[in-house]
Amino acid sequence: MNAPAREAELTAKQVEKIAYENNKLHKRLCRQVGQAIGDFNMIEEGDKVMVCLSGGKDSYALLDILMTLRERAPINFEIVAVNLDQKQPNFPEHILPAYLKELGIPFHIENQDTYSIVKRLIPEGKTTCSLCSRLRRGILYRVADELGATKIALGHHRDDIMETFFLNMFFGAKIKGMPPKLQSDDGKHIVIRPLAYVKEADTERYAKVKNFPIIPCDLCGSQENLQRKQIKNMLREWEKQHKGRVENIFSALSTVVPSHLMDRSQFGFVDLKATGEAVPGGDIAFDEEPCSTGTVSSVIPLRASDLDD
Ligand code: SF4
Repeated sequence: MNAPAREAELTAKQVEKIAYENNKLHKRLCRQVGQAIGDFNMIEEGDKVMVCLSGGKDSYALLDILMTLRERAPINFEIVAVNLDQKQPNFPEHILPAYLKELGIPFHIENQDTYSIVKRLIPEGKTTCSLCSRLRRGILYRVADELGATKIALGHHRDDIMETFFLNMFFGAKIKGMPPKLQSDDGKHIVIRPLAYVKEADTERYAKVKNFPIIPCDLCGSQENLQRKQIKNMLREWEKQHKGRVENIFSALSTVVPSHLMDRSQFGFVDLKATGEAVPGGDIAFDEEPCSTGTVSSVIPLRASDLDD
């Protein structure tokens, strides 16, 4: 076989391998999103799911995977995509409508100049995100009402959840994360995060594979959140240096033992009395925890990693 022929064959093999990997990625995303939806009962028969689309990789991936799952789901639910155009300078307003028309799904673009409000009210150099997201939240709740949406789906993924957990712990002195399903603060809506089990690296890769028309997220000129960046780097380092640690932390978020923490509002320490009855699987108090001789993953079934290929 001559060189060009060998090269052509190699290229064909590479193409085949890439297609195989891409297919595996798509399957993994569908499986993880399906699993999260099932675990938290995120979507029910007859729901109208409002998918919030920012133009970033995660919300594109969310919409794409939800559309695939809707085709296969044993229940009927509707999807409506919503983008809030906040009138940031140079926002390419044609991109999302063109993309959504091409997809052929119902969508709504809400035009609200929150950018000017934020600029007017927040002094130069101060962080604008908290007012901006408060305004955005209020608008999206109103739009959900107007569209008759029963669920509001956001594109936060596993890494966002873990970063928020550590941000709250390090800077807010709280054990509090970002739940996959919650009631909105106005008490009227259910917000869901179907990408809860999905790694950011996977949405990143998927966005490249699908060639999503990404809209840059720095149009508002806001500074990067340095605390979040710090946490992100910490997790990245752990992931590199301590195999399994990040998976175990994520798994731990679903395996909370209030009787072994110190929050008196979560467990009745004050009224705790010995009952005289042995409790199967109860506290061993003086013995070492099994995980001290091995990794936690050897004793607690991992969720996210179980889902990986
Ligand atoms: S980064 Fe910009 S658009 Fe996003 S919340 Fe902050 S101010 Fe708003």
